[in-house]
This record gives sequence, structure tokens and C-alpha cells, in this order.
Amino acid sequence: MRYISTRGFMGGEGTPSDAVRSGIAPDGGLFVPDSLPRLNLNELQGMQTLSYAKRAHQILSLLFEDFSDSEMETCVAWAYNSRTFNHPAVVPLVRVADRDILELWHGPTSAFKDLALQIMPQLLSHALVKTQESDDMLILVATSGDTGKAALEGFKDVPRTKIMVFYPMDGVSDVQRLQMITQEGTNLSVVAVNGNFDDAQTGVKRIFADPEIKGFMQKRGLKLSSANSINWGRLAPQVVYYFSAYSDMVSNGSINPGDCVNFVVPTGNFGNILAGYYAREMGLPIHRLICASNDNNVLTDFLRTGRYDRNRPFYQTNSPSMDILISSNLERLLFHATDGDSLQVAEWMNALNTKGVYSLSQQALDRIQKLFWADWCSQSDALLAVRQVWDKHHYLLDPHTAVAWKVCDSYQTQTCDKTPNIVLSTASPFKFADNVLTALGHQSQDGDGPDQMLNALSLATGWKVPGNLSHLQQKAVRHQLVGDKEKLGHIVKGFA
Ligand SMILES: *Cc1c(COP(=O)(O)O)cnc(C)c1O
Repeated sequence: MRYISTRGFMGGEGTPSDAVRSGIAPDGGLFVPDSLPRLNLNELQGMQTLSYAKRAHQILSLLFEDFSDSEMETCVAWAYNSRTFNHPAVVPLVRVADRDILELWHGPTSAFKDLALQIMPQLLSHALVKTQESDDMLILVATSGDTGKAALEGFKDVPRTKIMVFYPMDGVSDVQRLQMITQEGTNLSVVAVNGNFDDAQTGVKRIFADPEIKGFMQKRGLKLSSANSINWGRLAPQVVYYFSAYSDMVSNGSINPGDCVNFVVPTGNFGNILAGYYAREMGLPIHRLICASNDNNVLTDFLRTGRYDRNRPFYQTNSPSMDILISSNLERLLFHATDGDSLQVAEWMNALNTKGVYSLSQQALDRIQKLFWADWCSQSDALLAVRQVWDKHHYLLDPHTAVAWKVCDSYQTQTCDKTPNIVLSTASPFKFADNVLTALGHQSQDGDGPDQMLNALSLATGWKVPGNLSHLQQKAVRHQLVGDKEKLGHIVKGFA
């Protein structure tokens, strides 16, 4: 198995370590495996009795062939344990009404990105040794909220890495801001950028493109890198929880071994759902992957028509982590759906860059539609779903999960498919307490801080505030740097 670029670049070592260390291929493409190992039914069955860490060990060893058994053991033990996840199952399945919910938010930041970002820094740290990289890594992350905190927690005090997170001054929730500016650790820094997410992102891109900064880093033995979801080291760990959910469905008797299931996935950058695609390619019996979007429904249109068109209004919604018009990981699916036609993929990506539009061939679309189904859910319908599911089933959805819940409803009505559905729940409702309180019909008081809001939600529902989110306002503020997007360079140099 080799890792190759979606746009055709064939040089380099092609090892998993190389893919993780490089992040993105030299031609701008994304690393994809040129073939995948398959698990048979016996191996699937064997997973039932394993802990999540052991399941992760089994799957990730197949995807990281150049890691020794003991190296992988170290990585999974560090990432998935009772210190990092506050549930013994790590990703518990919960039956609600006629479907199962896979709770992916029991990690240190209460969002599903922890599943990948707890282990990715470990994979990277080992990959540096294995690729004989002599420089250390300085990770730069522009965040619209969830990624920043999850990346800080993952990279905190990891050898040979430093991390800087840039968040938009106007654009993250109070909870998210407090989570970041109170971050502890000796190898990290957090910077507020004047402006919105685009300003933060532009500022960071400018640093990556600046040869003077690159030279400055080189002299100090540092390489710049990023931790966003196009890195294979973030995607691969997400394959694990698809297998884990399936194993739990078999072991609790919901399905028989070999039966098919559907997964309903709240999607933004197409990373989470693409991990499901890889799980299926590795032998997991998946009938349908159902792609759920919010008002930014570019993927719904694409999966229905084959035409990707980013020229449309951008909405800031109550499921902000899905507010995306360019879903980067889709490029990987295009590569696989065309049997690796990298010239074609490069052409589409070029069209997306220059015109904002491209159209698939009928053949590629047919293949994608055999597996994927898509719909979207408006902001108001999502809040309504939060309310209804609470009233009827006493289960609390966050707004992102509510989008998926609602799309699961429409899938069932429109297709009459009776396959069991597993809905991926990507954030704790407490992380978006203000919207959830609104959905439940509570008026928030002016001047209520995050602590009061979380307590109010806890009081209204009897659900407990996750430890990492409670008393945020009482924690010491450790990061107060502020910068303009043009001037982030000298802040980065100062930190290096
Ligand atoms: C990031 C995120 C998503 C979207 O995941 P993608 O991998 O970008 O598709 C959905 N929900 C929450 C809460 C997130 O943080």
C-alpha cells in the first residue's frame, strides 16, 4: 500500500509517515491510499470484545503499515483512555426512538474532532522520527471554533511540536473563546485575529506562502505545518469509530453479523463522512452514507446533480462547524470515483479555483450515488428537532446532530429503506448551550456568561455539564495576543 496524490504526483516515499508529515502533496493534491486492506467477517466479529483503544490499534495498524506494533500501541494508549475520554466506551451508542446515536463528544473538548486530534499529534511525532526529519514542527491552525481547541489539547506538550492557533475576534462563541484562551501547556500559543474567520485564514495562508518566514524557521530547525482535516493523520483515526459502532450494534443484538447499516453524518469539510467511505472499502457492511448539510447546502446539490457550485450566499448558522462552501476532502472521493484519474481531478479542482464550478461525468456520479444520499436542514428546522426529540424522547441533540437527525427523517420518508440508521453525534449539546436553550424555549438573560448558560441548560434537562466546560469563566486567562491579519508574521516569529 502506497500513499499517492489525488493530482498525480508520484515521487516521495509514499509511506503513511511521509503522508502525515507532509500533510499535503507537493502538487497541491491530497494523499490517498492506492489500495486498502479488507477485514473479513471473522475479523469484524472478533472486534466485539475489544476496547476502543484495541479496535483503534487493529484498524490503524492496517493503515499505518510502517508503524511497529509497539509504536501504534503507544499512540492509541495515549489517545484513548479514561484520562482523555469521560466515557468507558469512548464512543457510546445510544438508542433513541427508531435509530442509534453514536456519541462522538466524550473527549477533552466535547467535540468529535477529539477522536482524530488526540492521536494525530502522536502519529506525527513518531512519523518525524521514522522519516528521519531533523526539524521540529510548528503547527499553525486557523479555526472557526472547534478545531482550534481540539488541536491545542492534542498537541499540548507533545515532543518536537509547537502549535499556534488563530481565531477570529468576531466569530467564535464565548464558550469556544474561553476554552482557547485558558489553554494550559508549554509548547503553544493562542492569538485573536481582528476580523472574521476568513481574515484569520487569510493571515495564516500568508505566513505559509512567505519565503522570508520559511527561511527564518529553517535557521531555527523548524518546519511549518498545519493540522487541518486534509491530513491523512486526521482522517484515518475517524475510520475506527465506524467499525466500533458496527461492532457494538452486533454485540447488543441490534443486527446480525454481516447485516448492512446506514450512517447519517453531519458534514462540513467532508472529512467525517469520507472516513465512512474508507470503512466500507475496508469491508464494513454499509448500505448508505447519508450526507447531512445545513443551509450551506452545496454538498446536497452536488450529490444530487453532479454539479459543484460554490457561487452562492454563505450563511452563518447555528451549526457553525458545518458552515463551509468548499469541502476539501471531497477531492479524495472524486479520485476514487474515477478510478484514480488524477488528470481529471486536477482539472476539476482547477475549475473550482478559477470559476467556482465543475461538473462530474455521468459515470462518476452514478458510482457516487450508489452509496451516497444527501439532504439538508434549515436552521429553524434544526432547532425544532432539538425541541421535539427532547420532548418526546428526553434526549438532547446539539444543533449539528439535529441537522443529521432531521435528514435521517427525510431519508426514511423518501426512500422507505428499512436498513438500521446510525446518526453520528458530533458535539455535546453544552458546547452550543445558547442555541439549545433557545430551542427548548428558554429566554436567556442579558449578560448571562457561559457558566450561567451551561448551568441553566443542566438545570432544565438534568444533564450534567461536561467537566472540561464547567467553570470556564473562573479559569486563568493565559493567552491575550491580538493581531491584524497582515501582521501575524512577526507574532509567529516571536513565538518560534
Ligand atoms: C467539524 C464538525 C463537523 C463537520 O465535520 P467534517 O469532517 O468537516 O465534515 C460537524 N459537527 C461538528 C460539531 C464539528 O465540529
